[in-house]
Amino acid sequence: MAVNKQKKIKYIGTVISVQPRSNVWRYRLDNRNHSTTGYNLFLEGIADDVEGRFSVAISEKQQEKLRCRIGDTISGTAWTKKYPQWEYADYYRAGALKKLKAVITAEESAHPWNGEVPQLSVYDERGCRMLDTRTYKGKCFTCKWACMANVTIEYDWGVRQKFRFESFCYGPKNCPLYKRGKPRPVPYKGWDPDYDDGFFDEICTERRGDED
Ligand code: SF4
Repeated sequence: MAVNKQKKIKYIGTVISVQPRSNVWRYRLDNRNHSTTGYNLFLEGIADDVEGRFSVAISEKQQEKLRCRIGDTISGTAWTKKYPQWEYADYYRAGALKKLKAVITAEESAHPWNGEVPQLSVYDERGCRMLDTRTYKGKCFTCKWACMANVTIEYDWGVRQKFRFESFCYGPKNCPLYKRGKPRPVPYKGWDPDYDDGFFDEICTERRGDED
């Protein structure tokens, strides 16, 4: 019988980024669907008695209540992941969340947009574009429009799926930091992979103009 190795941990840390916890479903070049299920808090501090950087998935309700933003000190509990191949955050099922120190900063007026994250409906409405992974990890990491999504690829319809993580940007189309990066392969059993070269970006963000 499989042993459930999940465990509950405690953490405390300073917020270094807050991003939407996004999910993407891909099927060849026929479909790329996006959804959001809360936020990922990125922190610097101590988790499970280990010092360093870590991330915790929290719900939209928890974010609405605490309004976490960069510089705040947060403590709480969370669980290690049940599906590490699918979940980007290090920990999830967050509980006992407390803001121990709040930082009051003016809203940003330029990129990267480091202010308070909006409601998830705003991300869903805006849609997103593929973001070069190196740019995501560098200049974009603190931006509220950046995310590293949990991606499910329908590899053999109804039989087998593949999982990976991909970076996206929900921000203004004219942001000077934006780089799309290389086309992304979408494999399917028995076929050469299709490549998403930005075709879906146009569809996902067609409701807004260059400066939105
Ligand atoms: S490219 Fe996107 S994620 Fe990066 S700073 Fe600009 S708006 Fe933010």
